[in-house]
Amino acid sequence: MISRRVDSMGRVVIPQEMRDKLGISHDTLMDISLKGNKIELRKSELSCAVCGGSSHMLKGASVCRGCAEDIAAKLAAVNGEA
Ligand SMILES: [Zn+2]
Repeated sequence: MISRRVDSMGRVVIPQEMRDKLGISHDTLMDISLKGNKIELRKSELSCAVCGGSSHMLKGASVCRGCAEDIAAKLAAVNGEA
């Protein structure tokens, strides 16, 4: 276990080794929930698998609209449709 102090803004730094292990980087969306007297912090499943962003997510997909359009354009180019 690692102990960290909460700063004046209520923030706690997640240890680098834990962030690395879970693939958490700058701008990764995190889900925070209260479980009894514990705070559970987990990487959101709503983030894009390509860019890690969380805005404009496609329903039922793990990718955002921007990345989906980028992938579609690359596929079209490979298939000679562009
Ligand atoms: Zn994306």
